[in-house]
Amino acid sequence: MTETAINETPKHADVVIVGNGALGLFLADELMERGMGSVVVVGPSHRETGASQAAGAMLGCFGETTTESLRTDAARTRFELGVNSHERWPAVLAKLEEYSRTGRPLQSAPDTHVVLNSIGAELDTVNFKAMIDALDQYGKPWEEMDPNDIPGFNPRLDTRSLRAVHLPTEGAVDARGVLTALESRLSDTGAVQVDRSVRRLLGSGDVVTGVELDDGHVIEAGTVVVAAGIHSESLVRTVSEDIDLIPTFPGLGFAMIARRSGGDPFRSVVRTPNRGFACGLHVVPQGDGLEYYGATNRLVDSITGVTWMADVRFLAQYSMQQLDERAAGHEVVQWLAGNRPVTLDGFPMIGWLPPSGLYLMTGTYRDGFHCAPLLAEHVANELQGKPGTIDPMFAPTREPIVTRTIEWSIDEYVEHNLAAWFETGAEAAPQMTTAQIAEYYRTRCVQAYDQLGIDYALGPDILWYAQGSLLGARRIRRYLRGRQSASEVAK
Ligand SMILES: Cc1cc2nc3c(=O)[nH]c(=O)nc-3n(C[C@H](O)[C@H](O)[C@H](O)COP(=O)(O)OP(=O)(O)OC[C@H]3O[C@@H](n4cnc5c(N)ncnc54)[C@H](O)[C@@H]3O)c2cc1C
Repeated sequence: MTETAINETPKHADVVIVGNGALGLFLADELMERGMGSVVVVGPSHRETGASQAAGAMLGCFGETTTESLRTDAARTRFELGVNSHERWPAVLAKLEEYSRTGRPLQSAPDTHVVLNSIGAELDTVNFKAMIDALDQYGKPWEEMDPNDIPGFNPRLDTRSLRAVHLPTEGAVDARGVLTALESRLSDTGAVQVDRSVRRLLGSGDVVTGVELDDGHVIEAGTVVVAAGIHSESLVRTVSEDIDLIPTFPGLGFAMIARRSGGDPFRSVVRTPNRGFACGLHVVPQGDGLEYYGATNRLVDSITGVTWMADVRFLAQYSMQQLDERAAGHEVVQWLAGNRPVTLDGFPMIGWLPPSGLYLMTGTYRDGFHCAPLLAEHVANELQGKPGTIDPMFAPTREPIVTRTIEWSIDEYVEHNLAAWFETGAEAAPQMTTAQIAEYYRTRCVQAYDQLGIDYALGPDILWYAQGSLLGARRIRRYLRGRQSASEVAK
């Protein structure tokens, strides 16, 4: 960020973007490229609690596939956002490389190996199969290979991989390097970046006219785009409590960057399928002997930058067991914690809001870094009054998107819990069968639905959260029951 930008906070702008994560910065870049007048990005340079600064930034699309990805039209539309995003990245990297300040290529890995290992449960197997089916359906390249031939991959024998698939075109970028490169490019192209937070949006329920910063400075704007990740919902509410938004929850994630202490380095992303409420265990080479190990996912009541001891144990222990047993001797050089913006129905929130002049882009959950360039293109179109490039179904004031029945949701919840049970080495009495453990989770889940008293079927991660948090359960119940009564009145 330039000195000029900090010292000369403007009083007016055509567009103010609130949030300096991947979504905000890629949008600013797209607007500058299109010559859309004066653009100001507001966001603290430390980015604490933000998701982008903590991301592994896998450009994962097929590696992220689950049995749910193509099961419904809505999920397929969401999945194709990822497929289309993928095509943008070669051009994005070509454009940003000259602004890189790290001395390393921004693309940190060109390819991915997805491993199906012996820990976990049936969920891994079905998601692994769903990935191969999806690759074939979309005609993308992949090959099955011997897990022992994956460079750097050296798990413990009892968690060894049974199968492995090579995805030659899915890699990863250096998230922190890309953010810095974007900032440099924005400085060059004349966008103003302000190292502060927005305290509130200015205007009324009818129109938004600007933002007030935490130092009291006001920037008037024709359009305000809120791209503040998990902070977006509360920020939008500063202008009106009445905007009917899908609720969002912080998906706290922990990851670490370690310096390799010996042995063969990883040369590709190596990951498990998505499983057990999270994005799978993965390692992402960062260059210069550094490796990113990620990532946990825990829905929490409030946004935080702290890390749970349990998550540190989880990541350290399972990285050593499932990825590389030599990782025990690696030096952790950076601890990363960020909050993914998770919506109640799991879909992003992209679109205009009722007060005119206010646009919202968030809710990207676990692949927002990957999707950011495509979303930027779409939002820039919409700001220019042109047709968007993605489906309008992701409007922030939509009804929650339905993708499952309650029975399906209960089955999914049981599968995720079983996967987590076995991965974490939880133990039951020796005579207890897997079917009995499954029955225990099923009973708990049925009870959770009884207590919630809702007829909307939740995803496994939201259900896990609602089941463990009184506050979360209350919030979900209030929102969904409010909608139920509104639709009954409408009838
Ligand atoms: C551990 C982890 C691993 C991940 N791995 C991947 C991955 O491999 N691939 C992938 O594609 N995605 C990944 N994600 C998800 C991805 O990071 C997010 O979907 C995406 O980065 C969200 O970007 P954003 O710009 O919307 O939000 P954020 O990155 O959260 O950015 C929002 C910004 O707004 C700023 N802000 C907040 N409040 C205010 C305010 N009042 N005023 C001004 N600014 C404000 C914050 O400082 C923050 O920098 C991961 C996320 C986590 C946490």
